[in-house]
Amino acid sequence: MVKQGNIQISSENMMPIIKKWLYSDKDIFLREIVANGIDAITKYKKLISMGEANADESEFSIKIFIDKDAKTLTVEDNGIGMTEEEVEKYITQIAFSGAADFVSKYEKAGGDGIIGHFGLGFYSAYMVSENIEIFTKSYREGAQGVHWASDGENVYTIEECDKQDRGTKIVMHIATEEKEFLEEGTIRGLIEKYCAFMPYPIYLNYTGKDDKVLNTTQPLYLKNPKDCTDEEYKEFYRNTFHDYSDPLFWIHLNMEYPFRLKGILYFPKVKNKVELERGQVKLYCNQVFIADNIKEVIPEYLLLLKGVIDCPDIPLNVSRSFLQNDRQVQKISKHITKKVADKLTGLYKTDQEKFEKSWSDLSVFVKLGCLKDEDFYSKVKDCVIFKDLNGKYQTLEAFAGIKEPEKGADGETQTQTAEGQGGEKDKKEPVKIYYVSDEVGQAQYINMFRSAGLNAIVCDTFIDPHFISYLEYKETGKYQFLRIDADVDAALKADGEKADAKELEESFKAALKNTQIAVKAEKFKSADIPAVINVAEFSRRFGEMNAFYGLAGADTDRDMTIVLNTANPVIASFVSLSEDKKSFVANQVYYLAMLSYKKLAPEEMNDFSKNTVELLKQYIG
Ligand code: ADP
Ligand code: MG
Repeated sequence: MVKQGNIQISSENMMPIIKKWLYSDKDIFLREIVANGIDAITKYKKLISMGEANADESEFSIKIFIDKDAKTLTVEDNGIGMTEEEVEKYITQIAFSGAADFVSKYEKAGGDGIIGHFGLGFYSAYMVSENIEIFTKSYREGAQGVHWASDGENVYTIEECDKQDRGTKIVMHIATEEKEFLEEGTIRGLIEKYCAFMPYPIYLNYTGKDDKVLNTTQPLYLKNPKDCTDEEYKEFYRNTFHDYSDPLFWIHLNMEYPFRLKGILYFPKVKNKVELERGQVKLYCNQVFIADNIKEVIPEYLLLLKGVIDCPDIPLNVSRSFLQNDRQVQKISKHITKKVADKLTGLYKTDQEKFEKSWSDLSVFVKLGCLKDEDFYSKVKDCVIFKDLNGKYQTLEAFAGIKEPEKGADGETQTQTAEGQGGEKDKKEPVKIYYVSDEVGQAQYINMFRSAGLNAIVCDTFIDPHFISYLEYKETGKYQFLRIDADVDAALKADGEKADAKELEESFKAALKNTQIAVKAEKFKSADIPAVINVAEFSRRFGEMNAFYGLAGADTDRDMTIVLNTANPVIASFVSLSEDKKSFVANQVYYLAMLSYKKLAPEEMNDFSKNTVELLKQYIG
């Protein structure tokens, strides 16, 4: 006998609303339907374990079928099944009230996007279906098959049917506009995204012969870390992220109390900004995929990592803005941060060599973490290292000689930083730390530093300018960072020499075509180079900051000075030259210095070439 019923809630208005709101995330319908099948199997297995149902031989599984001719997508499970009363109760009544609940909660949440389940799972399939049929048979002795059908608007039918096997079959009649969900590729993609780690095998278009299981029912993160091998971790990484370069290292999270949290976080090899943005942390709840990169749960900088996190205790039936303020979620987030910091400091202590080798990949992540999270900074600050001009890695404190370098230093004496070693004697003066932002472009400065017996650190990632400002601010008064071309006269001048060269400075300036630049003379330790360009650190940073924000005044060359080296013979004899020669020499010296600082302007380049050709002609006589 066919029974007909009216759905009581004003569902004619509901479906369009649900369809519209869930629209952007239509894909999740398959997750919901498959997850229901998984739940049904779990429930049945529970009954078996309690002795309330009998185990049989058949494998527990979810089978998905596509029938393009009939335009149906079918999901079949051999779980607990439903009786007629259960269908009426769980599908018709509860789910429809679930929909009402959804709407009211959604409105309360300010409609800012929903994560996952709402007890609305089954009805999400109406986002892609114009009609859905359920064929189900309960595990109970002598249960009768049940057939339910509804277009999801306001009517449903329910009747007996002669389903043979225990379990539930959901037949979705896919709407014409949604026919992509009848493509095998689309469905495979959805299974891979949402069902990759579900606990029972999932098959597509099952034939009974050589069928491939599409999911990993026992993902590695569930295993005890003690029992996992490096190769397994790498393989899990490859399979999950399709990244074929091995990760640097990983953290296996495995916690039961005070909340359940399992997962693996990988540190990928990262070379540049673009790759950085490709991090991916997938959030699961009981092996069901919820979302990628939820920054409410995982601190934003940790999203640069790749990994999976399974946390059944995250309240998912709430809005994202609520999640952000949830204490439990904050605890989870803190725990993850701590584990990451522990891993880094642990590795630095136990395997410094590996740590140093990985540093170029790690440093951007670590520095970003420090910038974003003071807590993280205080945890990892002792393992933030810098490469110096000799390729040696050390902490800033060790570099600046503030305290003894960590054990493992090879006993060789530290190269002196410019005036930097005064830290002990004079606590008030910040230690000057010279840094290189471009080892090739600043090669001449590096050479000068080297031959003067000075050292500098390399800060050449895009995040370093921000990071050194942060360090100056966090460690107030401890360090002063100067780019290697910012304070050359102080760094390179010969000790105790104060050149008095007013005449030289003035006549050189008068001969220069560039009238903006300041001229200053010093006696350097080395006679090799006639002049260098010096741009005050503060002015340069200010210009860079403006450029970064696209502001006016983005000129990074404000307050530029050319420092003449009176130890160099060309400079030493400059004042005695004829006016003609002065002009030639001054500009040529300036171009040379500029070339080592950065590129010349086009007209300057022209002039420089002309002069050089002139010199060559004279040279060959
Ligand atoms: P939820 O899964 O959050 O309870 P759903 O709308 O997905 O909400 O499902 C409603 C209810 O319908 C389930 O709780 C379950 O009792 C029943 N149900 C749905 N699908 C199945 C199935 N494949 N087998 C058995 N029962 C099911
Ligand atoms: Mg469900």
